[in-house]
Amino acid sequence: RAKRRGGGTVETYDESLREAVLRHLELERALRTGLDAGEGLGVAYQPIVDPATGACRGVEALARWASPGLGPVGPDEFIPVAERSALILRLGEEVLARSYAAANRWRQLVPDFTVAVNVSPRQLQQPDFATRLADLARRSGAPVAAVHLEVTEGLVLQEDEAVEDNLNRLRALGVRLSLDDFGTGWSSLARLRTLALDRLKVDRSFIGDEVVLRACVELGRALGIDVVAEGVEEPAQAQVLQRLGYPLAQGYLFGRPVPEEEVTLLLLARQRV
Ligand code: C2E
Ligand code: MG
Ligand code: MG
Ligand code: MG
Repeated sequence: RAKRRGGGTVETYDESLREAVLRHLELERALRTGLDAGEGLGVAYQPIVDPATGACRGVEALARWASPGLGPVGPDEFIPVAERSALILRLGEEVLARSYAAANRWRQLVPDFTVAVNVSPRQLQQPDFATRLADLARRSGAPVAAVHLEVTEGLVLQEDEAVEDNLNRLRALGVRLSLDDFGTGWSSLARLRTLALDRLKVDRSFIGDEVVLRACVELGRALGIDVVAEGVEEPAQAQVLQRLGYPLAQGYLFGRPVPEEEVTLLLLARQRV
């Protein structure tokens, strides 16, 4: 296939493939340099709220990255690059460490405050993942349970001994588990039960589908777990969630991902009312 670009040049499939490979290599090199130098990686935190009141119940940590040469790059682009190499282990550990440290500070204001952190399958395949996490928690001063982990259906489907082992150890440590982007993968309901999940996060592509939203909140009730609706952008969507009895919601309507200090200000403002 060939696609025409402005300027009258014809770009062949091979060329765009080559461009994609070069971009991947460029990103990987820049990520590695940045991590080595301790530069470029940031973490933004997005509120997870009660849709009935808008009260912030916790936040989700979202990795941010910019390099001097490439500028800001979105996680949908750099996370897959990191995942193709061992860089995701360093990046993931850094996000976890910062999330525990921030959770410890926020807990001075709101004692039960929690931070949800996304983890990649590769991280959970490390035999010592649970030990390392407990170590990060201890160094931060926050309890291990101050962080929740968000996993995806891809991981849930794997039957990997190291992963199973980590999930059992994490549960024993009191770390709660959320299933992210629920509804987009292929996990069976039976598997959801055996995993003993604590929370389902309904993928944001379903925010406009009341039938799916209702089914998910009922599934959550039947399994005795929390359900979060992702991607709430409009007041009408929040009203639907309230009517359906959603305990938790997340989306630009309630708050965008922001730096740590902005979450702190939000919590301070709440204390004064
Ligand atoms: P996710 O875990 O499902 O995170 C939610 C994504 O939805 C975030 O995108 C967030 O900014 C976006 N979002 C939140 N509310 C709304 C809304 O109302 N409308 C729309 N259109 N989008 C909304 P972001 O930050 O670009 O992250 C994309 C994905 O990258 C995440 O999806 C997660 O899978 C991955 N990711 C981000 N940080 C990390 C990390 O530290 N580790 C790992 N392994 N993955 C990460
Ligand atoms: Mg997530
Ligand atoms: Mg999600
Ligand atoms: Mg996602």
